[in-house]
Amino acid sequence: MSDIFISVRGRLLLNVEAMNMTESVGNYVKHRRVPVLIHQKDGFATYFVPAISGESIAHGFQKVIADEAVNKGIPVCRLCKNGIFLKSTSQKVLEDSFSTNSKSISNIEEFIVKNCTVEDIGGFLYAEQANVKRTSNFYVGYMIPVRETLEHVVIDPQLHSRYALGTGFVTSENKQEERGQMIYYVEVSSALYTFSLDIDTKYIGKLTFEFENVGKSVVSDSERINRIDVLLDSLKLFLLEHGFGAKKTRFLPTAEWDSIVIGISDNTWTACSPFTENYVDNSIKKKSKINYNTELFIGRKTENNIDDAIISAVENAKQRIRGK
Ligand SMILES: [Zn+2]
Repeated sequence: MSDIFISVRGRLLLNVEAMNMTESVGNYVKHRRVPVLIHQKDGFATYFVPAISGESIAHGFQKVIADEAVNKGIPVCRLCKNGIFLKSTSQKVLEDSFSTNSKSISNIEEFIVKNCTVEDIGGFLYAEQANVKRTSNFYVGYMIPVRETLEHVVIDPQLHSRYALGTGFVTSENKQEERGQMIYYVEVSSALYTFSLDIDTKYIGKLTFEFENVGKSVVSDSERINRIDVLLDSLKLFLLEHGFGAKKTRFLPTAEWDSIVIGISDNTWTACSPFTENYVDNSIKKKSKINYNTELFIGRKTENNIDDAIISAVENAKQRIRGK
């Protein structure tokens, strides 16, 4: 089998989204904001703009991976199976996740990698007296509005109420007004967002922590292929169905890809930043200068081929993993 590096860059139009909220102040729920620095004619400027965090995206991705792995009968621990990604953070969590006594485990990383595909792929931190750390095999970043829109993006608080007039819940027995009708504000935003996700299959199913054991497989080659298939199927589902973000039961955004580039290579090769308008052409140019057997899959809304690009890329990756 062969290992591959996958680099996804895209632009996603999200209208009326509340996908990544931070704090509540009373009845006011705030959207995440981040500072973004840009180069202007007369120097630099910083804008505070809505964003969706990498943690939020990683959570969504790992949820898809957990479900896919369970469907295909590949091991996932009890907590990850339920979308609770504490990921072996302590002895107590480890013992509960795997229904085991940690004293019987000789190599923590090997045990966890063998028994939980989500932690194999997404990493973990066992924060006990002797720490054991596994770095994630996928990389995601914040989604931020693209450069051309930066000066135009706004966040707006929308008023909502839970309506209870005409019920006995509005006034109490002593006729004092109660909070039968709750009003609350949720900040929403609309933007053309950047999207970035890289995957390196090199260490999936292999040890990474103790330097004398780096790269040692703890599962068979066929199990490694099954795990990478799970990861690739998850990637397809995740991209096609926008599987990230919170608050989607009542703030399901109007979402559509504007464009996407997926590069598949034998070694680390990343597509260019989608913050810049001509990132697709930049990626093609970069590939012409340097590449590691890199193949690009490009989708554009204007050409109505976004889904095709995602599906072809995943199929191509599955072939390459099998050394074809
Ligand atoms: Zn787990």
